[in-house]
Amino acid sequence: MKKKTRVLVTGGAGFIGSHLVARLASEGMQVVVLDNLSSGSIENVKDSSDRIQFVKGDIRDQNLVKKLAHEAQVIFHLAANASVPASVSDPEYDFQTNVIGTFNLLHSSVGQNLKSFVFASSAAVYGSSNITLSERSAPNPVSPYGTTKLCGEMLGLSYKRSFMIPFVIARIFNVYGPRMPRYVMHDFYWNLRKNPKELKILGTGKQLRQFCYVNDAVDALMLIADKGKDVYNVAGAEVLSIEKLATIFVEKISPEARITATGTSWSGDIEKLLADISKLQKLGFIPRTNLAQGIDSLIKSLDEGSKSRVFRQRATSKGPHE
Ligand code: NAD
Repeated sequence: MKKKTRVLVTGGAGFIGSHLVARLASEGMQVVVLDNLSSGSIENVKDSSDRIQFVKGDIRDQNLVKKLAHEAQVIFHLAANASVPASVSDPEYDFQTNVIGTFNLLHSSVGQNLKSFVFASSAAVYGSSNITLSERSAPNPVSPYGTTKLCGEMLGLSYKRSFMIPFVIARIFNVYGPRMPRYVMHDFYWNLRKNPKELKILGTGKQLRQFCYVNDAVDALMLIADKGKDVYNVAGAEVLSIEKLATIFVEKISPEARITATGTSWSGDIEKLLADISKLQKLGFIPRTNLAQGIDSLIKSLDEGSKSRVFRQRATSKGPHE
């Protein structure tokens, strides 16, 4: 991507989006962020705030989307309900945002001469599976979230064929790193801080994952925008069980804690979520952060965040210590 390219990032105040925005701004792109702040935060983009334009708004607002898409040369579409459990408790918001919102962006991009439209899809489109998933594996989503992401993919492909939108898909697996708002590593950290004696694992603990550090995920999204042709799995290279992950968190945060597995998990949890990333590697993807480094930097950022939260609470409190 050339400097000064006009880039629209939907969901740019979210976890992955804010890291992408920081990278694009540091590389001299003209970045517009569209985010309704439903799960993201303006704090997430504060370090780039003097170099980006932030628009608080909703991708379900067709007029707003039209205006912003008309000014863009590249679109990274990350705004979504990004949570499987939330899609089960509120499938309507999931559908409205992930399907109608994606439609609004695609429809507004017709005739715009875009260089690339990158859609943040998800490994959830594959559903439960015992195989290592390649982009050729048949999609079979088990949650509303996975289904709406697959709808987004299909809509995009139809717009690619019918209206020449340069639509490319990043099927993102588990991303982690600073500013993550949820997901297993975030929960392990906070649960151990709350109860240093015990860490509960949802399910058996035998679930397998290929975690991707957020800066590597940003590398992947940039590569897909520049060189991508169709659909790419985005995941880390190391395979890890949730049990082993729990052990790492216990060792680092509270070595005396006992690990117990509940046996049952949340609806939509998948036993084995492993990715063949060779197609992305052929584009030039090399994961730069190994799990040990990535987990250290996540824990450091969560420690810093929790200290500044306590500090802010103390500073604004009208409690008896003042
Ligand atoms: P996130 O929740 O931190 O980011 C989503 C952002 O979209 C938030 O800032 C939120 O405020 C915004 N948003 C939600 N609904 C909106 C709406 N209607 N209009 C405008 N903005 C809206 O999630 P994330 O983890 O950063 O995920 C980013 C993208 O990557 C999502 O599309 C998600 O489905 C996909 N993804 C993420 C992961 C992961 O491991 N984090 C895995 C697979 C796919």
